[in-house]
Amino acid sequence: MSGPRGTEGRGAPLLLSIDATVCTGAGTCEAMHPDLFRVGPEGHAVVSRTELTDPQDIEAATGVLDVCPTEAVRLTRSDASEREVGAP
Ligand code: SF4
Repeated sequence: MSGPRGTEGRGAPLLLSIDATVCTGAGTCEAMHPDLFRVGPEGHAVVSRTELTDPQDIEAATGVLDVCPTEAVRLTRSDASEREVGAP
C-alpha cells in the first residue's frame, strides 16, 4: 500500500549522524559537502543538519556514506530506528 501522497521512499525524513568512535576526522565528507559536514575541534566530523528532507541533501549524504573510509556516516529512517539507508 502506498503512502497518502504516493511518495513512498521519497520525502520521508532521514536522520544523519556520525559515529565519532570510528571517524578519523580526515575530512572527506567536509571536502565533498561542507554544508552538511564539518570536522570539529574534537577531531571528528559533525553534521550541520540531523534531519534531512531535501532530496539533494539526502543524495549528498548518501554519496558521502558510500565513500567514508571508516563507514562512520549514519543515515537512518526516522520511522525505523537503526535501519541504515543505502546499505547493499
Ligand atoms: S569521511 Fe568519514 S571518517 Fe572522514 S571525517 Fe567524514 S565521517 Fe569521518
